[in-house]
Amino acid sequence: MLAPSPRFALSRSPDRCPHGESSRRIAQAQAAQRAAEELVRIKSEFLSLAAHDLSQPLQSLELVIDAMGQALAAPTEGGSKLAEVSRLSGQANAALARMRELVRMLLEIARLESGTVRVHAEPVSVAEMFSYLERQFAPLARARALAFETESTDHLIVTDPTLLRGLLANLLANALRYTRCGEVRLKSAPAKDGRLHLLVQDTGIGIPQSELARIFEDFRRLDEAERLTSEGFGLGLGLVRRLSGLLGTPVHVESTVGRGSTFAVEIPQAKVSCPT
Ligand code: ADP
Repeated sequence: MLAPSPRFALSRSPDRCPHGESSRRIAQAQAAQRAAEELVRIKSEFLSLAAHDLSQPLQSLELVIDAMGQALAAPTEGGSKLAEVSRLSGQANAALARMRELVRMLLEIARLESGTVRVHAEPVSVAEMFSYLERQFAPLARARALAFETESTDHLIVTDPTLLRGLLANLLANALRYTRCGEVRLKSAPAKDGRLHLLVQDTGIGIPQSELARIFEDFRRLDEAERLTSEGFGLGLGLVRRLSGLLGTPVHVESTVGRGSTFAVEIPQAKVSCPT
C-alpha cells in the first residue's frame, strides 16, 4: 500500500476530518484494494485458461509432426506413405486452425480492453446490416442444413456499425453452432422507450436458466455444448459482453432447454425513418 502523502496527513486534523469521514475513506481504500486484487485474480485465471486451451492444439501438432517424421522414415511403399503423410497434414492443419482462431479471439479481447477502441455512432439502416450478415452466414447455415431467415425492416438505429456487426456475428455463429435442426432468425422488434430489439433466435439445444448469467464469463462452455461440438473456446459471449459495454447496448437472453434461445440487443432508434 502507498504511504499517505503529507497533504493527506495534514487534512486528517480532528476538526477538519472527523472520525466518521476518515473511516469512510479507509473503507473506500480497502474496497478499491479488494477490487484491484480481484482484477488481478481474474486476469491470471484468464491467462492460465488461455494457455491451457492453446497447449492442446500445440500438443496435437507436436504429435502429428512426430508421426509424420516416422511415416517418412518407415520403409513402406511410396503410395501408402504419401497417403499417411497427407492424412497427418490434414490433422496438423486442423490443429493450426484451432490455434489461429484462439489467437484471433485473444487479440480481439486485448483490443477491446485496451481503451483505444473509439465508438463512432451514426444512423445505421437495420436492413443493410441484416443483409450484410445474411450474406456472411447463409452459406454456413446451408452447409449445416439449417434454415436462415432475416426479416426485412426499414428501421434506422444509432450505433457503431462495425462494432454492432461484430456483436451480432458472434450471436449468429453461436445460434448456428448450437442448433442441430430447425432454423436461425435475425429480426427486430419494438422495445421499451422507443428503442428496438435486434433478435437472434434459434431452435437449438437451449440454455438452462441457472446458466444464463454465467455463459457471458470467459472460457465458460456448457456440458451440452461440449457434447455437441468441439468448436469454440467459450470466448464468443465474452466478446459480446465487451462489445455491449462499449456500445452501451444491453444484451438480454431467454432460453428453453431443448427448444431454443433468443438473444436480444437493445438499441436506440434514430429519429427519422428510412424512405421505403
Ligand atoms: P463458445 O465458443 O463455446 O460458443 P461462447 O462464449 O460463445 O463460447 O458461449 C458460451 C457457452 O454458452 C457455449 O459454450 C454454450 O454452452 C452456450 N451458448 C451460447 N450461445 C448459445 C446458443 N445460441 N444456444 C445454446 N447454447 C449457447
